[in-house]
Amino acid sequence: MRSNCRRHIILILAALGCLGSPATSFPIVSGHWDAGPVIVIDPGHGGYDNGASEKSGEIREKDVSLNLARILSQSLSPDFQVILTRTGDYQLDILERTATANHFRGKLFISLHAGGSFQHQAGGISIWHYASPTNVPFRTNSGTKLPETVKNRKIPWRDIQTIHAASSRRFARLLHARLTETALITPVRIHSGPLPVLEGADMPAVLIETGYISRPADLLILQHADGLSGLTDAIARAVKDFFLKNQAQK
Ligand SMILES: [Zn+2]
Repeated sequence: MRSNCRRHIILILAALGCLGSPATSFPIVSGHWDAGPVIVIDPGHGGYDNGASEKSGEIREKDVSLNLARILSQSLSPDFQVILTRTGDYQLDILERTATANHFRGKLFISLHAGGSFQHQAGGISIWHYASPTNVPFRTNSGTKLPETVKNRKIPWRDIQTIHAASSRRFARLLHARLTETALITPVRIHSGPLPVLEGADMPAVLIETGYISRPADLLILQHADGLSGLTDAIARAVKDFFLKNQAQK
């Protein structure tokens, strides 16, 4: 156990040195160093960026995504090394999220969100994988526009995600099966688009909108521990399916 602790400390110090992040924003590692593949979990938003909120403003997407990430991390820790790109309430640049995932040589990247919409009936789970940009202006189905800072910046690893396209699509389908099975939030859909947070990930990568904070039926699941653990159990099962199938294909 002691040697595991030492390895964790070394890994955290490596992250601080290599990424040059402030002390509050270094990624955290859970699970055993030699437990298995590295899974990078990215809780969406943080700091001044609240993401979506329900109408009283008390329940914010940035908190829901962090709660989901923490519970998912616990579910995966026995079998995987887990890295969280954000461990508290602070802002994190989209490129820092990808840099963390690539630095730790993640084998899977999962960005967690829980969007909102002005349309009261909009809801359900959306699983996104990357697709190269077209000339059509891109918006997610919750109306999120690409941040200006990302649109105008040269991304060092631009389009590297395209080499993982088939694996990302396969993982999206496994997630779709497991999340549909739980029937906690419906419908469950798969989409593709040029999402900046996926674009530079050098590993299979997806973004999951785990329901809509703005839809009362979804919120009921997203604000309770049982609902969150039901969703994260389904995601963890899909992660295990993904690696079992990878083993079988070798
Ligand atoms: Zn979001």
